Amino acid sequence: MSRLEIDADVLVLGGGPAGTWAALAAAREGARVVLADKGYCGTSGPTASGGNNLWNVPPGPARERSVQARFEDGGRLSEPAWMYRVLEETHQRVDELAGAGYRFPSGDDGREVRTSLQGPEYMRRMRRRVHRAGGTILDHSPALELLTTGDAIVSGAAGLQRQNGYAPWSVRAGAVVVATGGCAFLSGSFGTNVDTGDGLLMAAEVGASFSGMEFSTAYALAPAWSGHTKGLMMQFATYYDADGRTLGDGGFSARGAAMAHLAAGRPVFARLDRARPDIRAAMRTSQPNYFLPLDKAGIDPFTQKYPVRAVLEGTVRGTGGIRVAGTDCASDVPGLFVAGDAATRELVTGGRSGGGSHNGAWAISSGTWA
Ligand SMILES: Cc1cc2nc3c(=O)[nH]c(=O)nc-3n(C[C@H](O)[C@H](O)[C@H](O)COP(=O)(O)OP(=O)(O)OC[C@H]3O[C@@H](n4cnc5c(N)ncnc54)[C@H](O)[C@@H]3O)c2cc1C
Repeated sequence: MSRLEIDADVLVLGGGPAGTWAALAAAREGARVVLADKGYCGTSGPTASGGNNLWNVPPGPARERSVQARFEDGGRLSEPAWMYRVLEETHQRVDELAGAGYRFPSGDDGREVRTSLQGPEYMRRMRRRVHRAGGTILDHSPALELLTTGDAIVSGAAGLQRQNGYAPWSVRAGAVVVATGGCAFLSGSFGTNVDTGDGLLMAAEVGASFSGMEFSTAYALAPAWSGHTKGLMMQFATYYDADGRTLGDGGFSARGAAMAHLAAGRPVFARLDRARPDIRAAMRTSQPNYFLPLDKAGIDPFTQKYPVRAVLEGTVRGTGGIRVAGTDCASDVPGLFVAGDAATRELVTGGRSGGGSHNGAWAISSGTWA
């Protein structure tokens, strides 16, 4: 057991997409960077665990339409200037990933489709890129508290080394980026076992303000015995009550009726019967782990009904988080910067969940800026 003490320019807490993009950007600027992750950077968190749709729209009319549509969907609470910034940064960083060898699938016209990332491959590469840029990664090293100077400027963090007898670590740094993800506190939602809100608590302890927290209790639907809440799959679902009656209008908006039914303590069943036969194989290829628990139970979700449950995703696919006080993703506490789900996504998503593509884009862009 040995105590670890390091001096750095930038300390990044969390090694999901937001943290790795932050570490990479800082290391490229010549900063001495340390990234501490509670789990193993590259496999930890929901992005590393599955397929990720990405809000990546090229410049032009399609981008204009996308911003406008989202502005309306989010109750006009987002800020278009930030939405354009996020889209542009994400577009450039995704091009960079492709240039660095990430293989995107090709569409029917033979052109690459760069609107989703396979988490395991994406995050494996991000870990390697941080290493190659000269960053130091501390795995299995949860941060427990932020350190401050006498005049309340954040100047590092301290935690424990889980694979070294829980010996303490501390990093003194000129700036700290909190990228510890959102909070789905141990709800069992896929990949969120590490997302227990530690960074939110640490930021609150040093006096940071929060924003958009009223949009945080996001629940999603998963097979009753699984934690995989893939919204992409559920857009093809029809929901039924215990007597086999269709809930709601049977379309996408029926999700609300299904949620209301569950909230009243009544069982709800789903069947992915609105997925056309010709796309079913592609659905399996893009999200294989959604189908695993159904296959194990011997259920064909396209033809058979299966029970679903509501799973808390809190601020992971919710919206609220630490308030962003500047275009560089500074918080309102000096020395403390925020990125990804630990930060509010209100600027980009408005009063609506950022899951399903906006969060992934925000993680890339806010990480890079922070
Ligand atoms: C089932 C599911 C499907 C999703 N699908 C999509 C999608 O298709 N498109 C999309 O845009 N978004 C999607 N999301 C949301 C997306 O996964 C998140 O927005 C994204 O992972 C946020 O990245 P992040 O780096 O901020 O946080 P995370 O990916 O949650 O990473 C946080 C990291 O911080 C580490 N950490 C936590 N606490 C500490 C601590 N105390 N000290 C050190 N390290 C710590 C964790 O180990 C983890 O590595 C989905 C979410 C879920 C749950």
